[in-house]
Amino acid sequence: MHRIGLTGGIGSGKSTVAALLVELGAALVDTDAIARSLTLPGGAAIAPIAARFGAEVLSADGSLDRARMREIVFQDPSAKRQLEAILHPLIGAACEHQADAADQPLLVFDVPLLVESGRWRARVDRVLVVDATEGTQRRRVMTRSGWSGEQVDAVIAQQATRTARRAAADAVIFNENLTLQELAQEVRTLWLEWHVEGTR
Ligand code: ATP
Repeated sequence: MHRIGLTGGIGSGKSTVAALLVELGAALVDTDAIARSLTLPGGAAIAPIAARFGAEVLSADGSLDRARMREIVFQDPSAKRQLEAILHPLIGAACEHQADAADQPLLVFDVPLLVESGRWRARVDRVLVVDATEGTQRRRVMTRSGWSGEQVDAVIAQQATRTARRAAADAVIFNENLTLQELAQEVRTLWLEWHVEGTR
C-alpha cells in the first residue's frame, strides 16, 4: 500500500483533492479531524492537558477551551511545546490506528502542516502538494469562510512558503484556473500512476 502525504496552504484545495481521491477508492486519514476529536469531551488528550495546564483550560462540557489554550500558548512558547508534546504522539498513534484498519491500495494522510512539522516526511512514501497563488487562496477562503483578506493573509504568513512546499513535493497539482472537472482529471492521472505502483 502506498502512503501519500497530502498538503498545501490554506484554501489551496487539499480537502477537494482528498475527496476526489476517496471517490477513486483511496482511504483518507484526516489529521485535523483526529486532533479535534482528541480534545472533545472524553478525548484522550483531555486528561493529560488538564493535568499539565489545570481545569481552567477546559470548557463546561469537558472539551478543550481552544480560545483559552490559544491565549496561553501565544504568550508562552514553552507551553506551546508542552501542548505539542502531549498532542503529537496521540495524533501519530491515532493516525497509525486508522491506517492499520485501511485495506485500500492508497492511503492518503491529509496533513495541512506537513512541510512545517518535519515529523511527517518519514511516515509517507510520497508527498503531494496542492498549490495555488496567494491571490486565489485569499479569494477562495474569503468566499468559503467569510474571512477578511487580512485574516487569510495572517494565516498564509504563518504557513510555509509556496516555494518551500513545492521543494518538498514528489508531485504538485497546480490548482489555479482549473475547473473542478479539470482538477478531477489531474487527480485521476495521479491516482492511476500511484494506484498501479501501490498494488505491485
Ligand atoms: P483549508 O486549508 O482552509 O482547509 P483546503 O486547502 O482544504 O483549505 P478546499 O476546502 O479544498 O481547500 O478549497 C477551498 C475552497 O475553494 C472550497 O470552497 C473549494 O470548493 C474551492 N475550490 C478548490 N479548488 C477549486 C477549483 N479548482 N475550482 C473551483 N473551486 C475550487
